Amino acid sequence: MKNKPELLAPAGDLERLKIAILYGADAVYLGGPMFGLRANANNFSLEEIKEGVLFAHEKKKKVYVTVNIVMHNKELEALEEYLKHLKECQVDAIIISDPAIISVAHKVGLEVHLSTQQSTLNYEAVKLWKSLGVTRVVMAREASEHDISDIKKHVDIELECFIHGAMCASYSGRCVLSNFLTARDSNRGGCSQICRWDFDLYGNNEKLEGEKPFTFCTKDLSMLKVLPKMIELGIDSFKIEGRMRSIYYIATIVSVYRKVIDSYYEDKEHYQYQERYERILTNCANRESTVQFFDGSYGVEAQYYNGRIELSNQDFLGVIQDYDKKTGYATVEERNYFKLGDKVDIFGPEEETFTFEITEILNEENNKIEVVNHPLQIVKVKVPKEVTKLSMMRKNI
Ligand code: SF4
Repeated sequence: MKNKPELLAPAGDLERLKIAILYGADAVYLGGPMFGLRANANNFSLEEIKEGVLFAHEKKKKVYVTVNIVMHNKELEALEEYLKHLKECQVDAIIISDPAIISVAHKVGLEVHLSTQQSTLNYEAVKLWKSLGVTRVVMAREASEHDISDIKKHVDIELECFIHGAMCASYSGRCVLSNFLTARDSNRGGCSQICRWDFDLYGNNEKLEGEKPFTFCTKDLSMLKVLPKMIELGIDSFKIEGRMRSIYYIATIVSVYRKVIDSYYEDKEHYQYQERYERILTNCANRESTVQFFDGSYGVEAQYYNGRIELSNQDFLGVIQDYDKKTGYATVEERNYFKLGDKVDIFGPEEETFTFEITEILNEENNKIEVVNHPLQIVKVKVPKEVTKLSMMRKNI
């Protein structure tokens, strides 16, 4: 069987970095203070990168830093100094898009991965990047199974592929909709997600009344159904999208893919796809998903042409802060309303998911209460099994 692929998760901040690693990621990627996309994310300071790398390396996990904007001449001067700082932080690799960065990264001793922003889809391009010293190529999200297997046959290099998260309506790194309509540069971290906006439809300069607004928003990507095929292709790293996502999202998506990859490797012959995992993933993102370009059947069902109603998801009920073995109470920080009688799941870094009905809740004064409805309220919930800190409580799925 092929080597187990790396499970690579996004880390929007230190808390999410730790959650991703505790829930089973083999590596995380993050944005530093300079030259990364996601200008609106709370990017890491150099001090935080150092702390995150220490945490990850103690657990034998890796940290990659995005340095993947399209660069202008004036930015080149500050580049070497910044990369030296990343080297001092002992990051495991940087993810670049602009070839100008490669030689400077090598000069300071950093390993270089090529970002999906380069939209790489063929083996000649991969050979070129390899000859320039890139050790891993993050494939374009538009890559099909055939594209990936062809590249694997022709070039000996690590390939990283997206397995879950949002898609762009355009090739990554090629979209300028945001620049034109909002003067925010998507290739320098400012995307205002124009493809998700609603547009009125016009014919002969007249607004078409009665027509639903048009959007060219794609559905999300989920490779759960084809994960065994992806493993057998020999893909080296499975990447989850979403540095702006919540700790609940990260914990849920990482733990599901961790379980699926591990169970495939434990017993390939008897591995079975589980609908329940698909349900958990769909509920968490609150959007539909498809395998997009992977199986070559990309079509209208991969798009939301007429917009979609954004329903807020209130599955995430709380984070476990502590557990008292003597009393069987878990201390829970509330994230969404719950009450006595609710059927809930707890899943965590160290325990199998289990389901129970809430029979007892105590407030901070140890008085019994029936409902928890204050944001971040700290309560005690009687649980039937020992739970670990940072486990998550959600509505039963
Ligand atoms: S506007 Fe949409 S397609 Fe363009 S970069 Fe942003 S998310 Fe991607």
